[in-house]
Amino acid sequence: SLNIKNLHKRYGELEVLRGINLDIPSGQTVAVIGPSGSGKSTLLRVLMTLDQPSSGDIEIDGQSMWTDEQGRPVGANSEHLRKVRGKIGMVFQHFNLFPHMTALGNAMEAPVHVLGMTRDQARERAVEYLDMVGLGDKLDVYPAQLSGGQKQRVGIARALAMCPEIMLFDEVTSALDPELVGGILQILRDLSARRSMTMIIVTHQMKFAERSSDRTLFFDEGNIVEDAESSVLFSQPKEARTRQFLDSVI
Ligand code: ATP
Ligand code: MG
Repeated sequence: SLNIKNLHKRYGELEVLRGINLDIPSGQTVAVIGPSGSGKSTLLRVLMTLDQPSSGDIEIDGQSMWTDEQGRPVGANSEHLRKVRGKIGMVFQHFNLFPHMTALGNAMEAPVHVLGMTRDQARERAVEYLDMVGLGDKLDVYPAQLSGGQKQRVGIARALAMCPEIMLFDEVTSALDPELVGGILQILRDLSARRSMTMIIVTHQMKFAERSSDRTLFFDEGNIVEDAESSVLFSQPKEARTRQFLDSVI
């Protein structure tokens, strides 16, 4: 499980996360919605260890992220944090693929260089995931020759090839043609059905949030304003602020 305890993040004077408490059981898919600037990406960046919390704690399967087994604080380059980081994968809106590598090369890179897999092992696994996202026939193609939706799927396969326990998605469908969003939705649904992977999906697309997740969080000004089963949050939001937000978006 993923447990977030009174998590704060400040940038100078600006308090972007204001005491987040959140428990996500393994295998659950959680959507995060909310206004621009409310701290959604910051939460994912802190979970991904790209940014350090100002205070509070994050635990994965009971193990604290920024303190070791003895409870001592660890640094960003510590072995402890490297291990924690290996449990988490992230996919961004802009695909940031390596342009000089094929789809296969992109999905093999980290398993070889970070996990220390042999090229044969990494190739086998990369092919499996590229197949899963429907790109089995594009293994040797470079990013420049792929469509936006295809690039995004390579990004997903690349993150999956690291076999993370937790996958974070930050607006992975925002740059896509609306018709391609359904394809990504199907991949996320397959993933949550086939594996006990925990997923957090940040999106501005309400239909996508509702259909991809078990549970939805409405974020505003660095707080979780509402947290409910997705079908409930979208049909019967309890908080006035959530209703106002949902009424304002299309
Ligand atoms: P959007 O929906 O537009 O992506 P968001 O909810 O993801 O918004 P964040 O990117 O988390 O919002 O940003 C929250 C706030 O934190 C913003 O006011 C932003 O300017 C600020 N912020 C984010 N990163 C930094 C940083 N590295 N330094 C200073 N301020 C930052
Ligand atoms: Mg964001």
